[in-house]
Amino acid sequence: MGKNSRTYVYAFGNGKAEGRGDQRDLLGGKGAGLAEMTRIGLPVPAGFTITTQACADYYESDRKWPSGLSPEIKAHLVKLERTVGKKLGDPGDPLLVSVRSGAARSMPGMMETILNLGLNDRSVEGLAKVTKNARFAWDSYRRFIQMYSTVVVGLSKEILEEKLHAMKHKLRVSQDYEIPGESLRTLCDDFKSFFRAQTRSDFPQDPWDQLCGAINAVFGSWMAEKAVTYRRVEKIAGLSGTAVNVCQMVFGNMGDDCGTGVCFTRDPSTGVNEFYGDLLINAQGEDVVAGIRTPLKLADLADHLPDAWDQLLGVRVMLETHYKDMQDLEFTIERGKLYMLQCRIGKRTAAAAFRIAVEQATQALLTKQEAKRLAKKGYLPKRYFDASLEPVISRDEAIQRLKAEDIERLFYPIIDPGFSAEDLRMRKLATGINAVPGAACGEVVFTAGEAEELARGGRTVILVRKETSPEDVGGMHAAVGILTATGGKTSHAAVVARGWGKCCVVGCEALQIDYSARTLAVNGRTLKQGEEITLDGSSGDVFVGRVPLVKPEMPPEFHTLMGWADERRDVRVRTNADTPYDAENAIRMGAEGIGLCRTEHMFFDTEERRRAIQRMILTDTEADRRAALAELLPFQRQDFVGIFEAMHDRPVTIRLIDPPLHEFVPHEEAKQKELAGHLKLPADAVRRRVDQLHEANPMLGHRGCRLCISYPEILEMQVRAIMEAAAICKKKGIDVHPEIMIPLTIDRKELQILVDATRRVADEVLRHDGVEVDYLVGTMIETPRAALLGDQIAEAAEFFSFGTNDLTQMTMGLSRDDAGRFLPLYVDAERTGIFPADPFQTLDQAGVGLLVKWAIARGRETRRKLKIGICGEHGGEAESVRFCCSVGMDYVSCSPYRVPIARLAAAQAAIEQGTKGGKVSKAAKGGKGGKKHRKK
Ligand code: PEP
Ligand code: MG
Repeated sequence: MGKNSRTYVYAFGNGKAEGRGDQRDLLGGKGAGLAEMTRIGLPVPAGFTITTQACADYYESDRKWPSGLSPEIKAHLVKLERTVGKKLGDPGDPLLVSVRSGAARSMPGMMETILNLGLNDRSVEGLAKVTKNARFAWDSYRRFIQMYSTVVVGLSKEILEEKLHAMKHKLRVSQDYEIPGESLRTLCDDFKSFFRAQTRSDFPQDPWDQLCGAINAVFGSWMAEKAVTYRRVEKIAGLSGTAVNVCQMVFGNMGDDCGTGVCFTRDPSTGVNEFYGDLLINAQGEDVVAGIRTPLKLADLADHLPDAWDQLLGVRVMLETHYKDMQDLEFTIERGKLYMLQCRIGKRTAAAAFRIAVEQATQALLTKQEAKRLAKKGYLPKRYFDASLEPVISRDEAIQRLKAEDIERLFYPIIDPGFSAEDLRMRKLATGINAVPGAACGEVVFTAGEAEELARGGRTVILVRKETSPEDVGGMHAAVGILTATGGKTSHAAVVARGWGKCCVVGCEALQIDYSARTLAVNGRTLKQGEEITLDGSSGDVFVGRVPLVKPEMPPEFHTLMGWADERRDVRVRTNADTPYDAENAIRMGAEGIGLCRTEHMFFDTEERRRAIQRMILTDTEADRRAALAELLPFQRQDFVGIFEAMHDRPVTIRLIDPPLHEFVPHEEAKQKELAGHLKLPADAVRRRVDQLHEANPMLGHRGCRLCISYPEILEMQVRAIMEAAAICKKKGIDVHPEIMIPLTIDRKELQILVDATRRVADEVLRHDGVEVDYLVGTMIETPRAALLGDQIAEAAEFFSFGTNDLTQMTMGLSRDDAGRFLPLYVDAERTGIFPADPFQTLDQAGVGLLVKWAIARGRETRRKLKIGICGEHGGEAESVRFCCSVGMDYVSCSPYRVPIARLAAAQAAIEQGTKGGKVSKAAKGGKGGKKHRKK
């Protein structure tokens, strides 16, 4: 059948698939995975995928199937029946199918699944006969009726669960698998009566009706509240709907040679190269995910079913070499034979992300001996043999794999290692399974709703549940940590929390949770809602009270990978830092210089400094201003010495005063009076001056270099402080490289006046102190006019640094301080989608970016080697950094914690742009970035 844009159904089975792995948008993640696994020769049960477009058209047609869908499904059903050699609903030997959702982006547990479809009162008897296992047949029918009634028809889950529970109670058994076949038959009758009573119709017996109902339920689950909430929280937008996968059932619950599992090809918590996951023998898939039974470790399969374990080892190698990444798998073993039901790129912790990328780029998957053993058994096809002995990715691929969020997530807090071990031991309540690392403290809450409500009120909460379900997703997101009494590392709570990098402990079986009393009893202690606990998601320990937390150490692979990134990138990474402490911190993060030191922050440091700047502002004569500035000079000089010492031979860009003066004086009457008293001025004089400083649009007012045009003595003091500090450091043997930066320039002449004044003072200091210092004088490009006239500005400036916070504000006419009130609407894809992202976080490449490109081109026409950087917030945002690299900037500058993000993004840009890289690591050794561009 030819596939065209109106094809709604894609078949897979018997080694052939109509779809492909790269068609996630159309087939959903699960459908694409099934198609690709079939293509590469993995054991996948046959089936077909109904596309996401069918779902979109279903909604488009008011929740009706679009024309053409029904005949296509019918034709594919016939084809499936032929492939499998069984018919849906056949009373002798029925084909059973699963009907599963699967959107293009993973939404774990948010949408619906129906298993064992095709069973009815007659086919269940046939199934019992052919499998010679009446218990299995009736259990399958029981599960189907239960799922269909709740998922498709919407009957109460709790009542049906209660009936199952009552049956177990009556039989005095605790596990589902201990219920005998006869009792399951009785339970089926009971469920059907309940169905009849509730719906006034019989449980559907026609398999086609069942199939249509199930497909509609999956389509319907796309818009269910929990799915919509999940998409909102996860910022998933622009998808058309869910695909529906109809697939031949295989059974993990037919006996002890059967089983089912959810696993990862490497440990998703630590990244250790170990096949890792949960396994249940004699069970169906949803038992693992639901966290009802506590599973075995995946490796136990080697003891239970060694041959199936080897089959799975082969699959692991094939999938990692094919997808070149760690995979998250679902499988079923039916009578010793392995079937793959799902594969997708596995979610992982940040530490695991680094470890996996580095190990995949440096280590082979198998030893030769192991590869030979699997090949001999026929579980490792020839074409994968060699690949299994090599690293599966290159270093460049490892660099490209990581995301800014992976770095952010490395900064998870952990319990302070300095905290008394004895105290910690006394506080320990219980230990569960360490599902997602990191630590969190908060008040205990028992419902997702309350978690959301309290978090909105600014409280930090830990959501404690027996187990979580998709309905809890809002509360899980609001909580700082999640604790559950049941479930394994692949339970709902663990999977969802891992995706967010949120501390999570599951399967803490010692917990006795009483939802109605809102208490948590554990090992003889009872905690009420609101009491505080601390979770350690790395060890699985739960402690009473608030234990101090600290930020963690980076895993060694972080440093390895960042080293690779540094070798690869062409653009340098500096930091925005105003204190020696920040500067030192930034160096630890890999900063190669300071790109922005906001000097005015130093004026707020102590009472003494604040008073001096206030006196300077409140005096009327130049002489008095100079006297006040003279008081500030030693402070500034001392600060600059500290910064130069911290940065050593790295370049340091120091910006002259920028904010409007009203920001330095008090606005409340009481504070004004206090200041007047201190300065021995009439209170009225202070008030009058503050009134004078008032501006309607201070961001467009008397600020930036306009201040130094009016009050050159401020510039003189700051330049003197910078250069005296530089001279002191130079005499101590530090090869300082100050870059003096003039903010908010709008005109060449304006800049030239200030550059001349700067050079006059700087050279005078150097002459006086008898030292030589390489220094540059440049400007920020923050106004559209300066950008447009980049050629003229470059006549006066030795470097440009794009202040994209102001440049965005002025280009877009959006106030930095106020736009937050309505910008969310502009960036909400569902509501307006005017901008793809907040332009104050991610550079508006279309508009502001155009000015940046223009200014660079014009600037370098005048000064070929003009040094160019960025120091607005965008300098630490990955996408913006890639843009900066693409337009030829020399460096980006950002806050210390974002330095690694910028290093990674710059390397990724170099790889994407196909540059050779390596310029930075060579150049970084000398740290003399400033000198090269010193003269025109
Ligand atoms: C800018 O405008 O981008 C900038 C770095 O300066 P500030 O944020 O201090 O205005
Ligand atoms: Mg600015």
